[in-house]
Amino acid sequence: MAKKRVGKPVRAVAKTKTKTKSKAKAIVRRAVKRTARATKYIYFFGNGKADGERSMRDTLGGKGAGLAEMTNAGLPVPPGFTISTDVCSLYYAHKGRTPESVEAEIAVHVRKLEKAAGAVLGSTTNPLLVSVRSGSKFSMPGMMDTILNLGLNDVAVEGLKARTSNGRFAFDSYRRFVQMFGSVVLEIPKAVFEHEFDSVKRERGVSLDTDLDEQALRDVVSRYKRVVRSKTKRDFPQEPHEQLAMARDAVFRSWMNPRAQEYRRIYDIPDHIGTAVNVQMMVFGNTGGRSATGVGFTRNPATGAKEFYGEFLINAQGEDVVAGIRTPQPITELKKVMPKAYAQLRDITSRLERNYKDVQDFEFTVEDERLFMLQTRNGKRTGYAAVVIATDFVAERLITQKEAVLQVDPESLSQLLAPGFDPAEWKAIPVATKGLPASPGAASGQVVFTAEQAVKWSDAGTPVVLVRRETAPDDIHGMFVSQGILTATGGMTSHAAVVGRQMGKPSVVGASELEIDEDAKVCSMGGQAIREGDFVSFDGLTGEVKLAKVASKPSEILQVMTGELKAGKSDICRRFMLMLTWSDKYRRMGVRANADQPDQAELAYAFGARGIGLCRTEHMFFGEGRLPIVRRMILADTEVDRRAALAELLPLQREDFYGVFKAMHGEPVTIRMIDPPLHEFLPKREDLMVAVAKLEAKGATGAELEEKRVLLRRVEQLHEFNPMLGHRGVRLGITYPEITEMQTRAIIEAACQLTKEGGKVTPEIMIPLVGDVRELRDQKMIVDRVAKAVMKERGVRAKYLVGTMIEVPRGAMTADKIAAEAQFFSFGTNDLTQLTFGFSRDDIGKFLRVYQDKKILDRDPFATFDVEGVGPVVRAGVELGRRARPDIKLGVCGEHGGDAASIHFFESVGLNYVSCSPYRVPVARLAAAQAALAVKVGD
Ligand code: ADP
Ligand code: MG
Ligand code: MG
Repeated sequence: MAKKRVGKPVRAVAKTKTKTKSKAKAIVRRAVKRTARATKYIYFFGNGKADGERSMRDTLGGKGAGLAEMTNAGLPVPPGFTISTDVCSLYYAHKGRTPESVEAEIAVHVRKLEKAAGAVLGSTTNPLLVSVRSGSKFSMPGMMDTILNLGLNDVAVEGLKARTSNGRFAFDSYRRFVQMFGSVVLEIPKAVFEHEFDSVKRERGVSLDTDLDEQALRDVVSRYKRVVRSKTKRDFPQEPHEQLAMARDAVFRSWMNPRAQEYRRIYDIPDHIGTAVNVQMMVFGNTGGRSATGVGFTRNPATGAKEFYGEFLINAQGEDVVAGIRTPQPITELKKVMPKAYAQLRDITSRLERNYKDVQDFEFTVEDERLFMLQTRNGKRTGYAAVVIATDFVAERLITQKEAVLQVDPESLSQLLAPGFDPAEWKAIPVATKGLPASPGAASGQVVFTAEQAVKWSDAGTPVVLVRRETAPDDIHGMFVSQGILTATGGMTSHAAVVGRQMGKPSVVGASELEIDEDAKVCSMGGQAIREGDFVSFDGLTGEVKLAKVASKPSEILQVMTGELKAGKSDICRRFMLMLTWSDKYRRMGVRANADQPDQAELAYAFGARGIGLCRTEHMFFGEGRLPIVRRMILADTEVDRRAALAELLPLQREDFYGVFKAMHGEPVTIRMIDPPLHEFLPKREDLMVAVAKLEAKGATGAELEEKRVLLRRVEQLHEFNPMLGHRGVRLGITYPEITEMQTRAIIEAACQLTKEGGKVTPEIMIPLVGDVRELRDQKMIVDRVAKAVMKERGVRAKYLVGTMIEVPRGAMTADKIAAEAQFFSFGTNDLTQLTFGFSRDDIGKFLRVYQDKKILDRDPFATFDVEGVGPVVRAGVELGRRARPDIKLGVCGEHGGDAASIHFFESVGLNYVSCSPYRVPVARLAAAQAALAVKVGD
């Protein structure tokens, strides 16, 4: 998954069956394609040998591939088999049934597993118990379901008790199984079971699940079975093979559940890849005090620090650790209680890290002091941790610089630029409570208690902090829009922590003093009541929570860039710079910035931009005190009046250009001539009408009313039905050549001035919106004439180029003719996308979500470049342009220039540079390196 290329998440979740069906079609198509070949569907692992290995994530899913790899490496992994993702496709192709031929293959593998395990599914004396685990190519934490202890029934549970002489354990396993099977397969709400469980605990006067004895657990099981009977009108299925088939199909179904679909949409994971199902012999962390279950990371996933990191629970099973049932212990405590298992775990996980050359996120179980590995995968981490880890790995010689460049998601660098609190201000506010620092970053906002409210308020522009007892997978849309996430329960590996880190959202979890009443929308913290809408702030790096609105402060790196902090004082900045230096070794494309102010240009230069790809001159018109002059220019009735106003603008623009040139230290600066329709600089028509009406109603006469009337008349004259397609871009320069003259003069005068002072600059004068070479020719004549005159006046020679934006499809298709006049092209992919799709960029919001829901569009084409449809237009522009002028300079200056996925396309067509906003420059440098490394020479 490249970019955290999270476009805006789409919140509407398809709930209807028909929708799910239509989405399943893609899966079906894939299945039909695959079945054409004879395929192996089931992959065994056990006894030190596996059919699969780590590279087979497409077929085995991430979990299956990891289990195979660990088995082959001789690690202690309970045996089992993986039902491939192809079977998931078949399941959907056969309208929700697993074909019989596959059933037969599964039966063969069940027998093989029974042999390896030395136990038999359904045996009353020596029953084999298995887990049925989902697992797709990309990990989707908590999105799909797992069932443990499958194979138990009323008879087998007694057999298990007899074999282990541990009745408590046997019935603890059974009650877990009935509940998981009941909720996942039979779709009975979890709360119904929890209600029964709590009743039993209450009756027995105990608070922890581990305090329930065998008798109590027998009671829980019979209550659960009654629940099943009353909800499904049949008894809990007793036949283990039937249980297995039902569980397997439920995992396939869970692939299409709404929250899994939503998750995939946010992270750009395609629906058609499907999930695998892993059937694996159970090992038990719930046999008593010598058993445990846990999860961990080989390095700290929040800070990147090289420390063993994780949590475990004694006498527990499966999700207990992450579900916050009891508070887990830090993994370092395991050393004290089970030193041998701990040492082995450390050894194994370090080996895994070396083998995968990446941080591992692992799951394990200890059964009677024997360690078993249940999962390993590359760990998700914050952007901060990603940079720390990659630079550490290089220092440790675990990976090369090139591998480090490929390992770090470019978005991580953007996370590192996120703001923090001012330390002094932060310190002055008392700490209300402390939680676990799960994901770094400063968050401040108004409290909301539900994901829905978070979405509603943030849509209205209110920054919110989502406060929950714990988050669940169906909260992700609310988490996505929040400034940060604060939970009362859960550890560093809880849902809120994992997802927060992945989204780059500051999160503090397990703030156990926090008492939340989600229904009443209040919570209390350190004795203070907090209502919905109150301000809360927290620091995700320390876990401190405070009851105040706190302004945030630029990141350390930004402080170094602006000179507030000495570079030597910031370790993270040093690492950030290392990553970028390494990136620069591998990238081919240049990276420029879009900037129109000298300070922006300075920042961009500090971030490594070597040149300005787009300086929007009209932004300068909005500068202080300038708008009145601009308006005078627009309102002028005669050329003479217009020239007078332009003469006033000239020195102002010249100063701006001079500043930008200087800030770029000799690097090229592309200046775009005025582009937007003129009425953008005037007051709104409706506002003026109201103002005039009000004055008239007051019976006013005189200058003010007259002025407003004139303005209104002019605004009405300028009114356009489709301003985006109207009197803008080069069309302005053609109808008002004096604007082009003034802007050229300002540019060349600034260049002459700098040259005279010994500075260096090559302005690139860019004419926007050209669709026909004659438009460009018209403007170029003006530019060349004025430039020549200015240089003569000043007695200085300054170099400059004249080129155009390619942003109208006709411009791209006639690029050979245009290139005869243009020394450079810059692809304006915003307008080009708009005009190729015929989607107004300002109106797409009205239907984009529906388009994405219906899978008509995968992503917002204004965020990620549409390679399929707009790609060929750019390609045509590139090829035709190069044919006519082989040394033509080609760049891109649309929003896409800072988007990692889009950058791969620009690399593949061989552009010379990308240009993006100053803050995206680091992302673009890394993404350009990754693109260059991925695109083979000659591709
Ligand atoms: P997820 O994809 O949500 O992480 P898993 O399939 O990894 O789900 O299962 C969740 C947990 O269930 C595991 O971390 C592990 O603790 C437990 N589990 C799964 N399979 C087994 C097994 N064969 N023996 C013991 N515990 C298991
Ligand atoms: Mg897992
Ligand atoms: Mg444009």
